[in-house]
Amino acid sequence: KVSKEKCDEIANLRVAIRIRPMNSSELATTGVEDVVRIKNNELIICAPKNGHGVLTDHIFQYDHIFWSVDEKDTLYTSQEDVFLTIGVPLLNSAFRGFNACLFAYGQTGSGKSYSMMGRYIELFKRVSEIDKDCVVNVEVSYFEIYNEKIHDLLANPSHNSAKVPLKVREHPVLGPYIVDLTTHSVTSYEELRSFLLLGNKNRATAATVMNDFSSRSHSIFCIELGQCKGLDDTDNSRRSKVSLVDLAGSERLSSSFNNEERMKQALSDQRKGQFVPYRDSVLTWLLRESLGGNSLTSMLATISPASTHLDETLATLRYACQAR
Ligand code: ADP
Repeated sequence: KVSKEKCDEIANLRVAIRIRPMNSSELATTGVEDVVRIKNNELIICAPKNGHGVLTDHIFQYDHIFWSVDEKDTLYTSQEDVFLTIGVPLLNSAFRGFNACLFAYGQTGSGKSYSMMGRYIELFKRVSEIDKDCVVNVEVSYFEIYNEKIHDLLANPSHNSAKVPLKVREHPVLGPYIVDLTTHSVTSYEELRSFLLLGNKNRATAATVMNDFSSRSHSIFCIELGQCKGLDDTDNSRRSKVSLVDLAGSERLSSSFNNEERMKQALSDQRKGQFVPYRDSVLTWLLRESLGGNSLTSMLATISPASTHLDETLATLRYACQAR
């Protein structure tokens, strides 16, 4: 018996799935099976042979399926392959002056952060290749949203903005923005990476204070590009933003559930040209400028191949299907 779950194709949202290898504790557990197969661009979740729970095979289709289970396999995709397929089109869009957004979604421990931490080096290669008249500046910011409250992950710990939640305001032209969020100019990949690592460290500190924090908080790393022809030629100036969104773990009973539901709604409403209730959640409100119009959005859903995570895996795959 097979249950085929087909997704509609929509042009400006690409959905990719990445399967991580089994981890040592999954490998050490007796009776754990690898339930993922890939055949002709279809992702098949096989009913486990020892049969607890689901009895049918499930087949899904996505824009891309990244298999990272066996390095000798011809289907194997490295970090670099993932970056070339997902990251480069987003960067191309940003260099053309449009916003771009990448969402990572999946169960905690399925590889969201691993995949997002890819290689941003390409960005600076591109910056250095750009026409010499064109001044390019790159600024980064990094924040997280936990229980609808925003925390700056790059603020100086002695400053007030590191301690109190930040507010969102609406700029008449530029749209929603976070008041007092720190932004940091970077000129090399190393500098960008150091801010990313600093933010991750601050995020991890918060996680130890609050139980289950990182699996319930969304983090957003923003790279803002400013390009303009000649210093005062404002007609040719372009600003665009790449947002890398590490969504809270997809565990269904987590407190982030409502937020994810709204995000899913927002993504599909936007595609159908319907009104999007952006202000319903801080996340959708902030990403408004990155989700509509000419913006390019990709979603990377990450899963474990282990039969022990079957329910979560199916939930993630269905969510990713509906986002399309
Ligand atoms: P999440 O952000 O979804 O909670 P992580 O990105 O922290 O999960 O991944 C959990 C663990 O699995 C990490 O130790 C990570 O290095 C490993 N991992 C995740 N994805 C892959 C992959 N595609 N290949 C190899 N290791 C992976």
